[in-house]
Amino acid sequence: MKIQLSLFIFFLPSRPEDIKTPSTLRMSGSTKYIFVTGGVTSSLGKGIVSASLAKLLQARGYTVTIQKLDPYINVDPGTMNPYEHGECFVTDDGAETDLDLGHYERFLSVPTSQANNITTGRIYQSVIEKERRGDYLGKTVQVIPHITDEIKTRVRLLGKTGNYQIVITEIGGTVGDIESLPYVEAVRQMKWELGKDCLVIHLTLIPYLSTTGELKTKPTQHSVKTLLEHGVQPDILVCRTEHHLNKDIRNKIALFCNVERDAVIESIDASTIYEVPLLMEKEKLDVVVLNKLQLPVPENIFLDDWKEFLHKLKNPKHEVRIGLIGKYVELKDSYKSISESLIHAGAVNNCRVNVQWIHSEWINEDNVIEKLGGLSGIIVAPGFGKRGIEGKISAIKYARENKVPFLGICLGMQCAVIEFARNVMGKSDAHSTEINPSTSNPVIDLLETQKNITKKGGTMRLGAYPCQLKEDTKTASVYKEKNISERHRHRYEFNNEYLRDFENAGMIASGINPEGGLVEIVELKEHPWFIGVQFHPEYKSTVAKPHPLFVGFVNAAVEVGSLIKMQNSRH
Ligand code: GLN
Repeated sequence: MKIQLSLFIFFLPSRPEDIKTPSTLRMSGSTKYIFVTGGVTSSLGKGIVSASLAKLLQARGYTVTIQKLDPYINVDPGTMNPYEHGECFVTDDGAETDLDLGHYERFLSVPTSQANNITTGRIYQSVIEKERRGDYLGKTVQVIPHITDEIKTRVRLLGKTGNYQIVITEIGGTVGDIESLPYVEAVRQMKWELGKDCLVIHLTLIPYLSTTGELKTKPTQHSVKTLLEHGVQPDILVCRTEHHLNKDIRNKIALFCNVERDAVIESIDASTIYEVPLLMEKEKLDVVVLNKLQLPVPENIFLDDWKEFLHKLKNPKHEVRIGLIGKYVELKDSYKSISESLIHAGAVNNCRVNVQWIHSEWINEDNVIEKLGGLSGIIVAPGFGKRGIEGKISAIKYARENKVPFLGICLGMQCAVIEFARNVMGKSDAHSTEINPSTSNPVIDLLETQKNITKKGGTMRLGAYPCQLKEDTKTASVYKEKNISERHRHRYEFNNEYLRDFENAGMIASGINPEGGLVEIVELKEHPWFIGVQFHPEYKSTVAKPHPLFVGFVNAAVEVGSLIKMQNSRH
């Protein structure tokens, strides 16, 4: 009895504030759940608002992760055309995910995983598998409770890891969509079960009618009513708007939507997504959230680095024009992580990166100078299939011959290998067997591990693999380390049978996978900055840690840019 008492005294908190600080909360394991739903229209930026809130909570000392629930039936977006869905983002553990996960990582600098993106397809797949195994013991399997239970399990899974104090779950789509109903029902149930450990943020639009010069709250009222029809009362409204919301409008929204006055948060259009965390901080979104979750609001908020990045981004000292050559350039979301990586690298180099989006199908040997002349750097993008390949190869030839800084990513690297084989090594029919299976010089060929694969979904070489860099190479000087890890998403690979020929001709393998000897990086000896990478460096560039390859590439482009300027001023 005596021992028990002294133990109790030993664990008694000495000060009231010791009870709940961000770090002690982690020990107590009471994860808080925040759901972010969207109303009125799609494309309001739920991903950016979620990432911004997470950033603020992280800056106050909390451990946070963000999850995206997508209401489509594909098991993951890996099988979707970029025109459908924009870029497919790949995590370290090889999940092919929604591009919002890229924003989460870029804002938080914390890697996401398989568990951070769930689709209706995946939910149904696992429920059906359980049904086939007989796990439901003869029950009729239904949307409620089986699908909703599966959704809840997937949301709680991240909390159960013990790694996060707060889990933010973004529900894809717009409330009122038939396909998102099971998700809204799961949110309703979790809110009821968790009480103060759960809250719902609803993102809406306050349109501005220029004819009458008014902001209109009705669409927001209706969208909250739609949520209410499904039993969900939002706790906080984040209102996207082109104009500031005055007091009256805020009061009106609060009154008609049953939310507290300080829980009506304005989200005004910003010149860059990286400004949104600061706008949300001004609106006290993080404070309102923490209060509602009954969590302490630590006084300090560590946003100095973020502010410094933003300052550099908004006050560039110079500008460079970089050509991004791809076949999906009409939809810029197809290359989201690449363009964001260029923004990060631009800030490091104090320069604005002016990206010229150039369609690879429009480039040929005859117009290449007209299309690419004057660019300070060229990136050839990843991709699949034949369309636009010859344009990419012409662009690479131009970059190689004119000593323009070049970064080839995945298919872009493979095209650089093909171009070099054809135009330097004289193998005029060199190709990738993806495009020409009967080429007599398959310099890019199917990976051994891919040869018996027939199913398309989730079967590529995916996720993080180690890579060893060769000393005294441009690549090693850019990375400033010897062993790196980068994320992959491809089926084809440099054909090692040709490696010696390539190296003798001047294209060297500057990065090799230490396990199987696969060539992961090539570079040219006789070129100021020409690097091709089989992986996707863009998936790992974050605000806190801009990717060295992009930083080095933009730096080389800045040098070329100032040369071009000097030449122009002489004429
Ligand atoms: N299509 C090529 C391959 O599968 C390149 C893929 C990519 O660029 N992501 O190997």
